[in-house]
Amino acid sequence: MPHTYAIDLRTRFRGITSRRGMVWHGSAGWGEWSPFADYGGEELLPWLRAADEAADRGWPAPIRHEVEVNATVPAVGPDHATALVRAADCRTVKVKVAEPGQGPADDLDRVAAVRSALGADGRIRIDANGAWSRDEAVTMLAKLNAYHLEYAEQPCRTVDDLASLRRALVRQGVDVLVAADESIRRAADPYLVHRRQAADVAVLKVQPLGGVRACLDIAERIAIPVVVSSALETSVGIAAGVALAAALPDLPYACGLDTVRLLADDLADEPLIAVSGRLPVRAVEPALARLAQSAADPATTAHWQARLDQTRRLDQTRRLAAGQGGSSDG
Ligand SMILES: [Mg+2]
Repeated sequence: MPHTYAIDLRTRFRGITSRRGMVWHGSAGWGEWSPFADYGGEELLPWLRAADEAADRGWPAPIRHEVEVNATVPAVGPDHATALVRAADCRTVKVKVAEPGQGPADDLDRVAAVRSALGADGRIRIDANGAWSRDEAVTMLAKLNAYHLEYAEQPCRTVDDLASLRRALVRQGVDVLVAADESIRRAADPYLVHRRQAADVAVLKVQPLGGVRACLDIAERIAIPVVVSSALETSVGIAAGVALAAALPDLPYACGLDTVRLLADDLADEPLIAVSGRLPVRAVEPALARLAQSAADPATTAHWQARLDQTRRLDQTRRLAAGQGGSSDG
């Protein structure tokens, strides 16, 4: 029987103040299904397959017992950014840039503050969430790279712009790697980035990409280094991201999985929150008292149950059409 949860975020993120989703238990463990409200129809199928994989099948064996994670600095002023970096205890920091309503000076001041708080050997990556045009990205990355960037995540929105940006950076001698996030997780074809040589690094998220095995498959085919990131799940869903990071043959970058700390509460008594920039690789069991405490109101629960039923029917239709039968473990 699925539980529907509603947990407040400590600060507004992705336009939402309350994270909602479902968790349920199967023969292999607990799975989380928490697609954001702006996902619908066919887009919900990979999220369902990820939850079913966790609950019914479990994950491939880990090859490491802990995973390094990054801290995240949102679009705050330099003093706040400095405080966040000092509190985080991570060697890698992701800095949000290109926030609507802010300008290049805000980004430069924030990244400068992070570099000075982190020291010369810390790693800084920036995330523009696709907000820059190709030309803006060239200009900004040339300036921001004074602070030595590990990579720039989704600097432009389209795959064509990312590919063109990479060529422009090489021509102009700006030595910054390009990472693709939205271009993989919300693309009809996650391999377009690979075919167009549009990125040096791929950001993979377990739920929107259909589970740990599906991500391992993408990582193998895409043939560039992978960073595992979360979809703001509770510890139940984060455990799937950790399982992916733990099973990847190579993991050269810190992962964006330390996001349970953004939630005001969690479903587990021992949340998957990093200590000294590292997350342990382990199973997560929700605590009954916490499931009860975070239970969504009846209207929200009914909405999620209907959304799940609809998605299950769609999944069965697709499987029957593909000749795989109606079972959920095909
Ligand atoms: Mg991103």
